[in-house]
Amino acid sequence: MPQTASTPPLDNAPRKRRPPRRVEVSRVQVLSPAMRRITLKGAELEGFAVNDPASYMKLIFPEPGQTEPTRPLPDGPRATTMRTYTPLAVRPEALEVDVDFVLHGEGPASTWAAQAHVGQVLFLMGPGPGYKLPLQATEHLLVGDDSALPAFETILASLPPTARVRMLVEVADAAEQRVLTSAAPLDVQWVVRGPDNSRAGQALEAALRQAGPSAAATHNIYLACEAGAMRRIRQLLTGELGVARSQIVGRGYWKLSTANHPDHDYGEDA
Ligand SMILES: Cc1cc2nc3c(=O)[nH]c(=O)nc-3n(C[C@H](O)[C@H](O)[C@H](O)COP(=O)(O)OP(=O)(O)OC[C@H]3O[C@@H](n4cnc5c(N)ncnc54)[C@H](O)[C@@H]3O)c2cc1C
Repeated sequence: MPQTASTPPLDNAPRKRRPPRRVEVSRVQVLSPAMRRITLKGAELEGFAVNDPASYMKLIFPEPGQTEPTRPLPDGPRATTMRTYTPLAVRPEALEVDVDFVLHGEGPASTWAAQAHVGQVLFLMGPGPGYKLPLQATEHLLVGDDSALPAFETILASLPPTARVRMLVEVADAAEQRVLTSAAPLDVQWVVRGPDNSRAGQALEAALRQAGPSAAATHNIYLACEAGAMRRIRQLLTGELGVARSQIVGRGYWKLSTANHPDHDYGEDA
């Protein structure tokens, strides 16, 4: 069987990590009050290729007092200040990748993004596999919060004009809403969480309940948000709304009151 990025090695040999790549900030764009688009650029991005939408990568941030993070050794200990982000747009010819950061408040990644400026250095590892988008399906539903918007944009960019896509997105404030595009006909519903993050996912749940079973039942669903909310919404979809488990791909992108939530939380226990 050929090995791919998503299949583990067949023997017991330790999985070889891709070497970290040094990148520099080459552009910072303000997309909305709490969203920054940061372009990372560098010769070490040679060969960086993303095959699936909603893929992920690891970014390594400087420790307090450092101007640049220490380059991790290929088989050395994991960097302590490392977080998971979505490669939004990769431009191999320019050796660039764009990343959208939610400024959610305290946290090394959010704090760094809030002050980011051209010339600052990060290390990047990955990419890891993403969403195996069922391209033969016509009805797609994307449900999630602001942290999943970059992943949703990569899915929107991969859909053909023959597909139809509905999006339900929860943001902290109405000022976070922005124009999204896809080759597929797109219907976006924004819902507002407000400043209290402990309410994460509640506006998504209410909107799904209000829309009723017909809005979800025949769709392929990518669901990505706060980990507890993702589990509650999975249960709502499979219980009240009659969606088959096999129609849902769930991802916990962050977890309330938890730093550095792991990147492989699919919520299949729910
Ligand atoms: C596959 C994958 C792809 C992701 N892609 C992106 C992306 O492209 N853009 C993006 O912004 N995020 C993305 N995330 C989410 C991001 O990894 C987390 O938000 C991460 O915790 C941010 O790190 P931090 O250092 O800012 O906060 P941490 O140190 O991890 O957490 C500190 C505190 O902040 C809270 N917190 C963390 N994230 C959020 C949030 N989004 N909203 C509210 N409170 C939060 C935590 O509950 C904790 O209390 C992705 C996650 C995964 C698993």
